[in-house]
This record gives sequence, structure tokens and C-alpha cells, in this order.
Amino acid sequence: MTFEVTILGSSSATPIFNRNPTSQLLNCNEKFYLIDCAEGTQQQLIKFGLKASKIDYVFISHLHGDHYFGLIGLLSSLHLNGRIKPLHIFCPQALQEILELQFKHSDTHLKYELIYTFTDATKSEVIFENNDVTVETIVLNHRIPCTGFKFTEKKRLRKLLIDKLEQDQVPVELYPLLKRGVDLDLPNGDVIKNLDYTTDSAEPKSYAYCSDTLMDEVYFETIKGCDTLYHEATFLHEMLERAKETHHTTALQAAEVANIVGAKHLLIGHFSSRYKTLVELLDEAKSVFTNTDLAIEGITFKI
Ligand SMILES: [Zn+2]
Ligand SMILES: [Zn+2]
Repeated sequence: MTFEVTILGSSSATPIFNRNPTSQLLNCNEKFYLIDCAEGTQQQLIKFGLKASKIDYVFISHLHGDHYFGLIGLLSSLHLNGRIKPLHIFCPQALQEILELQFKHSDTHLKYELIYTFTDATKSEVIFENNDVTVETIVLNHRIPCTGFKFTEKKRLRKLLIDKLEQDQVPVELYPLLKRGVDLDLPNGDVIKNLDYTTDSAEPKSYAYCSDTLMDEVYFETIKGCDTLYHEATFLHEMLERAKETHHTTALQAAEVANIVGAKHLLIGHFSSRYKTLVELLDEAKSVFTNTDLAIEGITFKI
């Protein structure tokens, strides 16, 4: 099953040359989940050959513009391009009012339905679940209510040992039952033991998205042991005081979080526009947590 995230933007606050503010596209089993939608997100999707029409779920962390100013444009384009299937939006409640005001004054009547689920920034809870993935909110500590999102794959079906099944001429129509872990009693009295013909599937992976926040133990438990942690790293640690004032995190702190929660891989992003190159942020994080990558636009990370 595909489980990967493509970075569409990782600048904080304002776009700068070559860097767009925050947005990411998560692909889980060929279903598409947009995480934040800053200005420029539509162009980024086009640039990287990703289809906006395939997105069925949008998650907005908070109402600072660098995380949602692209949403009204995206929703309008989907409408103009003839979308009729509903779109689910997970967001702070006030976003509905903002969007409806924009639709009202542009006399826009969407041809498709927007289905809202409002986030509660004060507690971690499961807000979405389907056959592929469970999404849980992460309590963050920012200047305004802000929610991270943890995506955890559902446990996959067992893997078939095809060679052995074919060798023993087990009927193909029984394969789906074997994948579900069932032992089979055949009419002739034979028993097909599941463990003889299947192996366990890989453990479900998880992706935790934490932007924007102060480093705060309030969210450590929720993201414990995640496979890939995206954590904002707006500043170098020499700017710690500025990070605290603005409720952001330094690259060093992001790496400390990855260590504390036992993440396997760290992606840092939400870089201040003061940094023309990002190598110092990467080096700083790597000094604490080696398996760190920069969330560079256009790169797809397998989870
Ligand atoms: Zn931000
Ligand atoms: Zn913010």
C-alpha cells in the first residue's frame, strides 16, 4: 500500500524566492489528503504533476494565513472544473464562516458539497477513519488554537505464500479468506491452516504532522513512536528567544522532540524566510537526530 507525503511548501509566514508556505499532500493507498493549503498550493500541485481533483480530504491546522490562504482558490477551481463529489474539510470552526463569506460576496454556489468536521485544539481525538487510515488530532501550543494531525495506517491483510498455495492446489477463491487470517475446513474434511499459507503483514506506519508550535510535552504522548515526524523548525537555536516569542520551535528542539518520542525519521520545515539556504538548519537538527531531512518542495518521502 502506498503511504507517502509530498512536500508542496515549507516556508513560514511568507513565500520567498523558491519556497512556498506550508502545504503537503499525503497519499495513502491512492487516496489523497491535503494537509494545510497555503497560497500557491494549486500551482505547486500543477508543477509536481499532482491532480487536485483527486483530493477528497483537507486538513487545516490553524488560521494563520500561511496555512490556508490557498484554500478558497483551490475550492473555487474544483468548482469551475466541474467537481461534483463531496470534499471533507477538517479545520477550526471559524474557517467555515471565512469561506462562506468569500463565496457569498463572489456569488459562488459550489456544485459539490463541503463536509466540515471541526477540530478542538484542546484535546487529542480521532477525527477520521476509513479502511486505510485513522487520523488523530495533536494538541499543539501556538499563539492561536492549532492542531496537528497523526495519520496511522490500518493493519493490512496477511500476505499469501503463493508458491505454496499453488503447489498444494489451494483454490484461488479461498485466498481472500486466508488473507483475513481464517483457518478453513474443507468439505472433504481437510483443514487449511492459515499459518501454513500466509505471513503477517508489515506493522502499520504512522505520520505525525506538527506545525506550528512551541516545543511542549503536551503532544509527546500522541506522537510517540511515529515512523515519520514532520516538525516545524522555524529558526536556528541561536534564535530561541524569538522562537519562544512567536510560539515556534528551533531546529535543535525539533530534533530533541524526535529523540524524546522515539520517531524513526524526522522531517523539518516551516523555515523562516530569513534563511536563504537551509543547510545550517539541517546540520543543527542532525547533530541531535541523525535521520533528519529537510522538507523540500517537490520531494516525496515514503513513510
Ligand atoms: Zn505558520
Ligand atoms: Zn502559525
